[in-house]
Amino acid sequence: MVLTHNLGFPRIGAQRELKFALESYWKGASPRDELQALGARLRQRHWQQQAGLDLAPVGDFSFYDQVLDMSFTLGNLPERVQGFHGDALDNYFRVARGRSAHGSDDHHACCGGVAAGEMTKWFDTNYHYIVPEFTAQTAFKLDASRLLAQLAEARAQGVKAKPVIVGPVTYLAIGKAKDDSDKLALLPRLLEAYAELLDTLAAQGVEWVQIDEPLLVTELDADWQHAYNTAYHQLKGCRVKLLLATYFGQLLENQYLAANLPVAGLHIDAVNGRADVTPLLGLMPAHKVLSLGVIDGRNIWKTDLAAVLDWLEPIAQKLGGDRLWIAPSCSLLHVPVDLESEHRLDPEIKSWLAYALQKLDELKLLSTALNQGRDAVKDALAANQAAVAARRASPRVHNPAVRAAIARIDAELGRRKSGYAQRAPLQAARLKLPAFPTTTIGSFPQTAEIRQARSRFKAGELGEAGYKSAMQAEIARSVREQEALGLDVLVHGEAERNDMVEYFGEQLDGYAFSQFGWVQSYGSRCVKPPILFGDITRPKAMTVEWIRYAQSLTNKPMKGMLTGPVTILNWSFVRDDQPRSVSCKQLALAIREEVLDLEKAGVGVIQIDEAALREGLPLRKSQWKNYLDWAVESFRITANGVDDETQIHTHMCYSEFNDIIASIADMDADVITIETSRSDMELLDAFDDFNYPNQIGPGVYDIHSPNIPTREHIVQLMKKAAERIPAERLWVNPDCGLKTRQWAEVIPALTHMVEAARALRAVI
Ligand code: GLN
Ligand code: ZN
Repeated sequence: MVLTHNLGFPRIGAQRELKFALESYWKGASPRDELQALGARLRQRHWQQQAGLDLAPVGDFSFYDQVLDMSFTLGNLPERVQGFHGDALDNYFRVARGRSAHGSDDHHACCGGVAAGEMTKWFDTNYHYIVPEFTAQTAFKLDASRLLAQLAEARAQGVKAKPVIVGPVTYLAIGKAKDDSDKLALLPRLLEAYAELLDTLAAQGVEWVQIDEPLLVTELDADWQHAYNTAYHQLKGCRVKLLLATYFGQLLENQYLAANLPVAGLHIDAVNGRADVTPLLGLMPAHKVLSLGVIDGRNIWKTDLAAVLDWLEPIAQKLGGDRLWIAPSCSLLHVPVDLESEHRLDPEIKSWLAYALQKLDELKLLSTALNQGRDAVKDALAANQAAVAARRASPRVHNPAVRAAIARIDAELGRRKSGYAQRAPLQAARLKLPAFPTTTIGSFPQTAEIRQARSRFKAGELGEAGYKSAMQAEIARSVREQEALGLDVLVHGEAERNDMVEYFGEQLDGYAFSQFGWVQSYGSRCVKPPILFGDITRPKAMTVEWIRYAQSLTNKPMKGMLTGPVTILNWSFVRDDQPRSVSCKQLALAIREEVLDLEKAGVGVIQIDEAALREGLPLRKSQWKNYLDWAVESFRITANGVDDETQIHTHMCYSEFNDIIASIADMDADVITIETSRSDMELLDAFDDFNYPNQIGPGVYDIHSPNIPTREHIVQLMKKAAERIPAERLWVNPDCGLKTRQWAEVIPALTHMVEAARALRAVI
């Protein structure tokens, strides 16, 4: 019998119930037991929805983050929250979200404010976890209460429970040593806590525990490989069976290590790492279970079930008995819950998709076909086949003209007419900017009125003309404010954009939008990635009207504002029927047309945001070059068709450039604006060391904080910048867009910024 199981279920709820309950509790609008009760109801519902599986995950539910849950299970709380007097769940939220020193909660007087734990991306997903904190002194103390309570709950509901935990080596690796001590020195202590946890679960009669070790799909040095052997040999004595779960990529050179760790079963991502399977079959000891993640847990397409069966049947035969399990490739946390809730989605496109619940149905079909023969599910397989074939053949997916344009791409297309050194004086003559020119990154505050106008327009309550004049009034306001502030290069403010990717996706052919396609990003925050389903075309100009209007209001240069192809790609659900690089180049050709239209409309400065370029880097460094090559090429195709006099800007809101500086330089934007304020300009070292030749606008203040930067502070930062980059190539701007701020914060902050630029001009 081939068994089915699931690695994790989306916890936010099909209608984002958990999000709303959390936010209400945090605001003090509902009591703790209401939140707890909702958690229990969601778990119960989700287990019912997984009832067809042979094993269902337990412990995957979380009020904030599964890694933070693990820190609490291991008793690894940052020292700053250890003395908390209140409820444990509140303390958990204190670590997750921080608490200001001016709070008014019950324990404010005794426990004061605390800083939130740092947050970072979970491997190559858009899910963010709370980074475990370590010091050389870290001690672990098991608290299995959460897991045991959920286990008891599951059992009471008749769930065939498989507790899920983050494995010790991954847990250590994704944490941060606050004192720069060697994290691996903590491994022996950590393993004691894990051993105690596994024994506690064994004492409850648990048979299988899923222990997640996605670190195994990354490059491991000898110490970390050794840590794997140490860890799992030490945990061997525990009386539960361990299913070691890897996902998000290929094991490659870690195949031997993973196959031979002393555990009862190994799960691998057979969507991204299918090539691992044949070698693993040879490497794995004969008693081990192999769990194959054959349904894509990262994307929303229907699985081609016949193709999977063609591949799986011989493997099932070879493994025999109960050694083959099947599952989604990874936790379904990364996909939305239920396709059935989508009533507005185009029916044809909907018929090509599967969300979490539909993926579990697919899994069930596969196991029935494997266990009883394909005939037992003949009709369902035929329906699947029909949907898959329809998608493959659909003219909405395939556009020969786009294919032809992709085939015509050559190196020339992405090359500016002249090098930076020739372009820069031409642009200077056209734009006539002072030294240390000031600008902003694009968006101005998205006020309640703006959001209201947009939603009334979408709901059909506000007509096209009414909407247009509401947005024009906002644009006029932001132009007025910028002129009064004395900024040098203005922006229109992005009032008409709800989201920097969605805005473009909605206007490109080849994109679809869901209503309920929410995926948890962190805590209560969700994103709804647009669905890139077909060859991309741009039916008409997307931004030109707005920018032209904004330019008509001022004599200062107005920046045209676009989102770049790599960022649009990385923040979408993308096609699985062609390489990402091809989808990216299609986007590049479409945005290129927009760039050229802006230029034709007389716009002299065009910014192409690539906020998500860095986060698209593959998990393995050995694959970075390939990604960067096509990502940079896509940007170049988008940006570099313009004349020498047109100034291209790009923006990236992060601050780690060491590894990718050569690629950044290769993009050849005339100006790059980046986030720097929190690094005290030190990250400019990467640009300095590389002798980065073009202009840079290092962010001078953090837009995430309501604090108003002082003029002196900005001058200080810019002086530090000028020690690294010649002053004549520096711009002055904030770290990122201002849409989450209020005008009352923006005005004084930018006033100080402009004053700082004037002060700097006076000294050079
Ligand atoms: N132009 C965008 C804005 O200002 C950039 C946002 C981003 O980099 N995340 O909002
Ligand atoms: Zn940004």
